[in-house]
Amino acid sequence: MSDTPIYVTQPDLPPLEEFIPYLEKIWENKILTNGGPFHQQLEKALCEYLGVEHLALFANGTLALVTALQALRVNGEVITTPYSFVATAHSLLWNGIKPVFVDLKPGSFNLDPGKIEAAITPQTTAILPVHCYGYPCDVEHIQEIADTYGLKVIYDAAHAFGVQDQGGSVLRYGDLSIVSFHATKVFNTFEGGAIICPDAKTKKRIDYLKNFGIADETTVIAPGINGKMNEVQAAMGLLQLEHVDEAIMRRLEIDRLYRQGLGGCKGLFIPELPTTSRHNFSYFPVLVERDYPLSRDALYEALKSLGIYSRRYFYPLISEFSMYRELSSAHKGNLPIASDMSSKVLCLPIYPSLSDEQINQILVILGE
Ligand SMILES: *Cc1c(COP(=O)(O)O)cnc(C)c1O
Repeated sequence: MSDTPIYVTQPDLPPLEEFIPYLEKIWENKILTNGGPFHQQLEKALCEYLGVEHLALFANGTLALVTALQALRVNGEVITTPYSFVATAHSLLWNGIKPVFVDLKPGSFNLDPGKIEAAITPQTTAILPVHCYGYPCDVEHIQEIADTYGLKVIYDAAHAFGVQDQGGSVLRYGDLSIVSFHATKVFNTFEGGAIICPDAKTKKRIDYLKNFGIADETTVIAPGINGKMNEVQAAMGLLQLEHVDEAIMRRLEIDRLYRQGLGGCKGLFIPELPTTSRHNFSYFPVLVERDYPLSRDALYEALKSLGIYSRRYFYPLISEFSMYRELSSAHKGNLPIASDMSSKVLCLPIYPSLSDEQINQILVILGE
């Protein structure tokens, strides 16, 4: 029995005394939001850290998603994955767009590009894939289809902070990518998010859209939303950025300990790491197969009864929620790989302050 509960993730908090000077500065400046100095500083620092040219900060990742779709004037139907956090598809409904669910690629957590073409109709305007758990999508194949059919591509890269392939950040793909800085993510600003933009013009338009569509004192160019990140969030981001490499290093160690400890565990399948040049170790998914002594849900409950809170990310599938399940693309028969994955997956606790002792505790329970 664990003395303190172990959650699937715990926010990575920097030392409080390091945050106080930032707060003092805000009190001194009396600039609390609307693109203040910390906001501007964080945009620059993140561009540098992530290796991207332009980025617009948001109050959270969901507002970034909703705004990204608006910025590209996406409408009609959008092809997306059912295997994600519900905000992915919700961002479509908030724009009056019909989600069209396409199944995963076998053996992958991501959209199967080979199944996209069959789902395209004259109403399709975009593809909204997710780099699930930070595993990059088949970006080249997706772009090829988008080019052929004249579709936009918006990546929900909420899990892909800091992920790089041979050519650099995976956030450079598609027309736009969005990231989330929610408390549960690898890099957090309490709540927060960003849109990665290809050029300054697009960023400018997105900056208008996140501030009610206001271009200047007397000009409003669109029914924009209030999606602005405030100065306390931005300050948190600047401080977090100093610690994030260390945090990812510890996540890598935890990943190794799990892989070593679970390698010979019958009935638990450990998906291989992606072949990216830099991974962020944001999640540790395992698949509970039929020959494991417990069902996935029984294992989840057994861990919970011992104070270990793993998560069934992503179960249920988005397509199973009431606002989606009437869609023809939401039928289980259309999504066999995603349904199978969703029934087997369990994400184990992974966060920098998880101790080796706690990891051993989890390994012992899983191996019993
Ligand atoms: C966290 C998350 C979001 C939403 O981000 P928020 O910052 O919580 O609004 C969107 N998509 C995915 C895949 C996520 O994991």
